Amino acid sequence: MLPIVIIGGGVIGSAIAYFLTLQQPGCDVVVVERDPTYARASSALSASSIRQQFSNDINIQISAYGIGFLRDVGTLLACPGEEPQVGLHEGGYLYLATAAGEATLRDNHVLQKRHGADVALLGPEDLARLFPWLALQGVALGSLGLSGEGWFDGYLLLTALRKKAQSQGVRYIADEAVGLDMACSDGVQHVRAVQLQSGTTLPCRFAVNAGGAWAAAIAGWAGIDLPVVGKRRTVFNLASPAPLPRCPLLIDTSGIWLRPEGKGFIAGFAPPADQDPDFAPLEPEYHAFEDHVWPLLAERIPGFEALRMQGAWAGYYEMNTFDHNALVGLHSTCDNLVFANGFSGHGLQQCPAVGRGLAELMLTGRYQSLDLSPLSIQRIADRQPLLEKNII
Ligand SMILES: Cc1cc2nc3c(=O)[nH]c(=O)nc-3n(C[C@H](O)[C@H](O)[C@H](O)COP(=O)(O)OP(=O)(O)OC[C@H]3O[C@@H](n4cnc5c(N)ncnc54)[C@H](O)[C@@H]3O)c2cc1C
Repeated sequence: MLPIVIIGGGVIGSAIAYFLTLQQPGCDVVVVERDPTYARASSALSASSIRQQFSNDINIQISAYGIGFLRDVGTLLACPGEEPQVGLHEGGYLYLATAAGEATLRDNHVLQKRHGADVALLGPEDLARLFPWLALQGVALGSLGLSGEGWFDGYLLLTALRKKAQSQGVRYIADEAVGLDMACSDGVQHVRAVQLQSGTTLPCRFAVNAGGAWAAAIAGWAGIDLPVVGKRRTVFNLASPAPLPRCPLLIDTSGIWLRPEGKGFIAGFAPPADQDPDFAPLEPEYHAFEDHVWPLLAERIPGFEALRMQGAWAGYYEMNTFDHNALVGLHSTCDNLVFANGFSGHGLQQCPAVGRGLAELMLTGRYQSLDLSPLSIQRIADRQPLLEKNII
């Protein structure tokens, strides 16, 4: 039988490879990764956090599986003599809302509770008691994850998935995919092979697009228009003399986020749409710290007046410009090109559920555990966006 060829060996491609060879030992899987150092891959440049606080069913269900996977990662991804640890810290997310955002937070809370998420709504008095370092002007309500949310080492997750996949027989090839050999019958396309920069051609049973921010180019080889672009996001490394006891991952009413990292903090922001070009160079937006991030953070956390920026990095969100949610599964015009794209800033936490689901789809013809069809790429053709209100 021909191999399954996965283009892109980040967390998404590696999770799919891991689950394929877990669910069907001996399954022939090849991962094509052009940069084994992952210098520009989102998986290596992420804030590596997981939350249950989404506003639609499928994203909450995906995270419920994701947190269980992260808790058990040492066992699940163990290789002989090695039990990987990804340093999961369940510090919670704290969403702050103004009076205008209060109703949305309450609606989301009802949905999250229905799915069993361990979340609590907190009024200003509760917030002041739990987090005395917060200044609560303009805050009407907060929503705190009590368990099942937090942060971890995303790069370690990537290397653990890759190593485990390799130990299960997956071959990683350091090369660039540059095209697809296509056939067509009765109006439906079929990928016969993946062409590589080196001149090699890899015949395949399925080809998987796990190309991260660069996925649209891969889709284009099959004549499919994929609304995914790279949007630069800067993460600032911060040091502060002010201790913030029990600091969760804070989502401020301004949209700025902050979380502890080692002895300090990391923080980020989303640039306004008119200052957010596609594939901006991966240089951190240092000026945004002084101009925008610091003043707002110091308003919310008065102890941050003495904050120091110690460095910064930038990576691409693989942004789905249609509706900011993952685009997963087969496209109606091609029977064996599988999409795993457009995670828009939450692919690290979604890789376990998406890897498991797409492996089921390829090996059995349908989703067996969690039905990922709400994320189907078909929703673009149907003009049916999947709404998610909690976008960071
Ligand atoms: C600043 C920042 C913060 C983030 N914070 C979070 C967070 O807190 N929680 C969370 O869940 N997610 C977060 N994310 C998002 C998360 O990192 C991504 O969704 C996830 O890493 C996507 O994984 P991927 O494997 O699809 O992409 P990538 O990691 O980018 O991997 C794609 C790979 O495909 C390879 N590739 C592309 N085209 C080809 C080709 N033609 N041939 C061969 N190889 C190819 C690339 O070299 C790359 O290594 C964040 C992202 C950024 C940038």
